[in-house]
Amino acid sequence: MTQTVSINNNQRLQLEPLSTPERLLLGPGPSNAHPAVLQAMNTPPLGHLDPAFLAVMDEIQSLLRYVWQTENPLTIAVSGTGTAAMEATIANAVEPGDVVLVGVIGYFGNRLVDMAGRYGADVRSITKPWGQVFSLEELRTALQTHRPTILALVHAETSTGACQPLEGVGELCREFGCLLLIDTVTSLGGVPIFLDEWGIDLAYSCSQKGLGCPPGASPFTMSPRAVEKLQQRRTKVANWYLDMTLLHKYWGSERVYHHTAPINMYYALREALRLIAEEGVENSWRRHQENVEYLWQSLEDIGLSLHVQREYRLPTLTTVRIPEGVDGKAIARQLLLEHNIEIGGGLGELAGQVWRVGLMGFNSRKENVDRLIEALQQVLP
Ligand code: PLP
Repeated sequence: MTQTVSINNNQRLQLEPLSTPERLLLGPGPSNAHPAVLQAMNTPPLGHLDPAFLAVMDEIQSLLRYVWQTENPLTIAVSGTGTAAMEATIANAVEPGDVVLVGVIGYFGNRLVDMAGRYGADVRSITKPWGQVFSLEELRTALQTHRPTILALVHAETSTGACQPLEGVGELCREFGCLLLIDTVTSLGGVPIFLDEWGIDLAYSCSQKGLGCPPGASPFTMSPRAVEKLQQRRTKVANWYLDMTLLHKYWGSERVYHHTAPINMYYALREALRLIAEEGVENSWRRHQENVEYLWQSLEDIGLSLHVQREYRLPTLTTVRIPEGVDGKAIARQLLLEHNIEIGGGLGELAGQVWRVGLMGFNSRKENVDRLIEALQQVLP
C-alpha cells in the first residue's frame, strides 16, 4: 500500500492498562455497583438477536415489573442513562400542542420542562421552594387550572433530597382525564413505589442508583392507557432511537433488529435486578430506610443539620446544610482525595448551601455511614 499521508502521532498516548482509585461513591449517583453485578458484566457478549440474549431481555422486563410493582407489558430498559429514559418518556407521550403540567420541586423538574418544550408541548409549571413537595390539594388546583394531557412529577428530587408523595395523585389524574408521568430515577429499588396501585402511567429510572449497577441501561414503562395514546398519535415520535413503536418490536414478540443492544450493560442490569428479587424489594426499601435513619442521627450527632423536613426526606439521598463559614467544596474535595469518599455538592438553587449524600443500592449499608462520619469528623473544622 502506498501511503501518501503521514500518520499524525500527536494524540497517540502510550498508556498503562486502566487503573482507577477505589472510591466509596456516596454522592447523588452513580453509587458503587454490587461486585456480582460487575462480575456479570464481564460475561462474554452474545449477539443481540441470540435466543439466549433474548431470554435475558425477557428476564429484565419481568424483574423491572417486579421492582416497580406493575404488570405493564411495555416495560423495557432503554440503552442509555436516566436522561435517555426520560427523553423516551417525553418523546413517546407528548404530541405537539399537548398541555403538559410539570410540578417543579428542583433541578430535574426543570429538565422535564425543558424537554417537554422541545417536543412541542404547551408546558405549564407549578413550583415549590427547593426542599418542599406538593400537597394533593395544590395538585388538584393546578389540574383544575391547566387541564393538562399529562401531569409530570419527580418522585425523588435528587437536587433537594425531597420525596414527593404520590398516593392519591393517580386518582386525581383520572378525575381530570390526564396521564401521570413520574421520574423514579432516585427512587427505584430504594423508595416504596407501587406503579399500578398508584395509577402511574409513565415512569422511567436509571441503573446506577438504587439498583446498584453501573450507568447505561435505564428502566422505562408505559401503562396500557399511555400505550393507547401512543397508538393514536397523529405524528411520528420525533426521536427515532427512542421510538417505542419501533423499540417494542425488538423487546416484544417480533424480535426485529432496532439497534445493537449494549449487551454487557443488560447483563449487569439483569444481575442487579436478580439481587433485588433475591433480597425482596420490600426488604430493600426497609434497608434503605433503616440505614438512612442511622445516617441522619449520625450527622446530627456531629452537629450537622438536614435540609428537608423529616417527613419528606428521601431514604436514598440526604441534603446536609453546609455550616456557616465552612467551604463546602473544599470539604468534599478533602473527603475525596484524603478519604476516597465522594459526596455531592448542591445543585441549582442549593449550590453552595448543601452537600448531597447518597446511600443507594449496594451502598446502603451501616459501615458506609460509619466510614463517612469518621472522615467528616476529621475534615470538618
Ligand atoms: N432524574 C433525576 C431525578 C436524576 O437524579 C437524574 C440523575 O441524577 C436524572 C433524571 C438523569 O439521569 P442520568 O444522569 O442517569 O442521565
